[in-house]
Amino acid sequence: MEKLIFEYHSQSTAYVPGSETAARKKYIPAEYLAAEELVLPQAAEQDVIRHFTALSRLNFSVDTGFYPLGSCTMKYNPKVNESVADLDGLAGIHPYAPEDCVQGALALIYELEGFLKEVSGFAGMTLQPAAGAHGEITGILLIKAYHQQHHPEQKRTVILVPDTAHGTNPASAALAGYQVRQVKSDSQGDIDLEDLRQNLGPDVAALMLTNPNTLGLFEKNILEVSRLVHDNGALLYGDGANFNALLGLVKPAELGFDIMHFNLHKTFSTPHGGGGPGAGAVGTNNELIPFLPIPRVNKKGNKYSWDYQQKDSIGKVRSCYGNFLIAVRAYAYFLALGAEGIAKVGRQSILNANYLMHKLENYFPRPYPRLCMHEFVMTPHHDWEVSTLDIAKRIIDYGFHPPTIYFPLIVHEAMMIEPTETETKETMDAFAAALVRIAAEASREPELLKKAPQNSPVGRIDEARAGRQLILKYEKRRDAR
Ligand SMILES: *Cc1c(COP(=O)(O)O)cnc(C)c1O
Repeated sequence: MEKLIFEYHSQSTAYVPGSETAARKKYIPAEYLAAEELVLPQAAEQDVIRHFTALSRLNFSVDTGFYPLGSCTMKYNPKVNESVADLDGLAGIHPYAPEDCVQGALALIYELEGFLKEVSGFAGMTLQPAAGAHGEITGILLIKAYHQQHHPEQKRTVILVPDTAHGTNPASAALAGYQVRQVKSDSQGDIDLEDLRQNLGPDVAALMLTNPNTLGLFEKNILEVSRLVHDNGALLYGDGANFNALLGLVKPAELGFDIMHFNLHKTFSTPHGGGGPGAGAVGTNNELIPFLPIPRVNKKGNKYSWDYQQKDSIGKVRSCYGNFLIAVRAYAYFLALGAEGIAKVGRQSILNANYLMHKLENYFPRPYPRLCMHEFVMTPHHDWEVSTLDIAKRIIDYGFHPPTIYFPLIVHEAMMIEPTETETKETMDAFAAALVRIAAEASREPELLKKAPQNSPVGRIDEARAGRQLILKYEKRRDAR
């Protein structure tokens, strides 16, 4: 196991840079220097490099292997987008540089908003929110502002959320000051229309819906859902995390969504996971445009500018202008694919998921056996003596990242698999072969699965302990050599 950086004591080396302390004392006024020396790791530069390189090799990533984490769209992100986001003229600009000096950056934001409007059918767009969940709360605040302005006498205090929803949906609604009421799914895996009718009332501000939903299924009654919600005077919010499946096929605005967030880091090619920066652009219909966050980017003639003068705006949701370099990656992705390439994304992601699903359907039961969109949900066989967790851990031994597990909550022992459009048939065949072997192991040698993973840097860990017993500062380990 790699030791901690604090456990290196490798000063004796031929490569010794000048004393940092002496330099500090020379250039920094004494009153600004800390009274005591900080306890910093004492490691030679080459050991630092080796240490972090060794740690990076313990990581699993899309660049090292197949990563079928359902709902997360862990697609391969073309490296050219990284190069573009690294260009000095984009990466090096100061957020408060005068507008005249950053016309290119403003043009990029304006044009990306246009691309997103084009693929979604929405009339308004903001790139400011920094993540999907941040887009959700921004969207809910827009809905709140809309209701307040259009009928201030109404008391719409409830947001409806289906029982398949991602946890951020009810959390965002609650954070925006709404009560959350859950709507059931029916036996087909769609939102239950009867339960929706029961839950709709004069107190409902909006329904938050994911389509395709988190079971990987297209909500086939979406037009009826939209009619019921709108007849009730409420708005239809779209969680666009699963937009990958619709890309180039369906415009969410045409399905009746009034507003939707995009996860640029999922659908539009930014490496994600591990809490890195994201972007949760929000698209709206015409009526919600006046409430969009400021600043908005404007174009007059050939000149772009920031507009802070929107009197009905919900205000700022993010410092500066959002995670600009994520927008740069999305922009590069759109330009590289073009309309034709974009149209292929949705189709291929659906084809890949259905291909993989059919290869596995004789080995793993599916709770909703119908055509899937970009992802699908399956479970262990009920007479196996292993859990979904055991299967997920065993998958690591075969060199793949496990799928999302125990989500959506309404499926007992759920495994949620999303291959994405970027994977080849060879990779999916290899993954399917591994899962078929695991299915055989599960029925014959369940112990093997319970001990997994064994071919990984760490074995089975206590999933909850690190969250319950936080160790936030370095303490010399008792077992350290
Ligand atoms: C990822 C995801 C979110 C939240 O997006 P973040 O960018 O992680 O905040 C919301 N809904 C669904 C369905 C998701 O998959």
